[in-house]
Amino acid sequence: MTVAKQYDVVIVGGGAAGIATASSILRRASHLSVAIVEPADTHYYQPGWTMVGAGVFSSHSTSRTMASVMPKAANWIKAAVNILDPSNNALELSNGTNITYGRLVVCPGLKLNWSGVEGLEAALGHNGVTSNYSYKTAPYTWELVQNLKSGKALFTQPPMPIKCAGAPQKALYLSADHWFRQGVIRDIDINFFTSTPGLFGVAHYVPALMKYIEKYDAALHLQHTLTKIDSAAKIATFRNQEGELVESEYDMLHVCPPQCAPDFIRQSPLANSDGWVDVDQETLQSKHFENVWSLGDVISAPNAKTAAAARAQAPVVATNLLAHAGSSNRVNHYNGYGSCPLTVERGKIVLAEFGYGGKLLPSFPKWLIDGQYPSVLAWLLKAQALPWLYWNAMLKGREWLVKPEHNS
Ligand code: FAD
Repeated sequence: MTVAKQYDVVIVGGGAAGIATASSILRRASHLSVAIVEPADTHYYQPGWTMVGAGVFSSHSTSRTMASVMPKAANWIKAAVNILDPSNNALELSNGTNITYGRLVVCPGLKLNWSGVEGLEAALGHNGVTSNYSYKTAPYTWELVQNLKSGKALFTQPPMPIKCAGAPQKALYLSADHWFRQGVIRDIDINFFTSTPGLFGVAHYVPALMKYIEKYDAALHLQHTLTKIDSAAKIATFRNQEGELVESEYDMLHVCPPQCAPDFIRQSPLANSDGWVDVDQETLQSKHFENVWSLGDVISAPNAKTAAAARAQAPVVATNLLAHAGSSNRVNHYNGYGSCPLTVERGKIVLAEFGYGGKLLPSFPKWLIDGQYPSVLAWLLKAQALPWLYWNAMLKGREWLVKPEHNS
């Protein structure tokens, strides 16, 4: 009989949340055995894909080998988790082995459900259908934008929750800005089809965004959900609020796919009824197993699913896990912080930063960056500072601007 290998801490997923949390734990407690279960060879800086779709970043600048971002002191187990068995503190892996843990951190991200729209998988990547939600097709967005001189462009957003809820409209703004600068925008009919009842979830930012919708003369179709793509005929079908099917022709179609919890999470005892990991939204501890925490896109909490959120969550999970292990009695809490830099034109961003309940949580004084107005400085932040911060601070456990808050 083989004995399952035991670790003090096991982290499921080596994405933005997993690597940041492992680094935060190991910076404080290097004596612990920490394993990261992660099947992929490549780690992606997904927030950069909006910029790839606009020809600002190259796609290769958004990826690094997984080996290069793994903390040196962590044990990388190159496999996927197939089954979570928290009652026995055990995981079943895709390589046929089982491992056990003292404490578990669950952060495998979410599942992009490409098959949730009929015809999307087959259509994606050719004949005018693209998405910045994939490393492979983000460059194709820029190719299509450059080549389109007239015709009809559609941008779609599925039902919430999705990661970076601003990304579908960011693709619209940056594409429209290019057409505006090229002097062809009058010949392009731009449309935004979103399942949501409004342009953006936090009202504070909507007036600034609406100015750009007007500038680009884009038609807004609220509560329209993409259901089908006929790529041969170049027709997209949407279901509207009344349940009617509405068809639209297109020359370019940018799709944000429907999103849901990964299957192995949905099927585990950690999930809530919608499939997400059921956590206390402040402590990020599982509501069902006291030695389990979760963060990143997979959690049930109603925050904006962003890398910025994971950056704020990682120190909270690290410190709360170590407190549980006996290092202190202090419990820290996460305030729901997330950030969405809305790239309204090349060189300007409306910087949305907010927490639970839409509470505004700006990182900068108003005179420097005011989220109600497009800002050049916020663009420099997104184009230069944030990628650097991601690779060199967040993934290394340097908790700049995100010191965990204490629950008194
Ligand atoms: P991920 O980074 O997706 O990592 C999950 C990891 O888990 C992956 O490495 C995966 O291989 C692994 N995994 C999956 N299944 C298993 C399994 N069974 N076992 C083990 N490991 C598994 N955020 C911002 O802050 N600002 C932005 O401007 C922004 N823009 C975005 C634009 C786009 C187009 C996209 C797609 C995302 C954007 N985001 C943005 C969102 C941000 O990238 C995510 O919120 C962030 O990556 C979430 O981190 P995560 O670790 O939860 O998931």
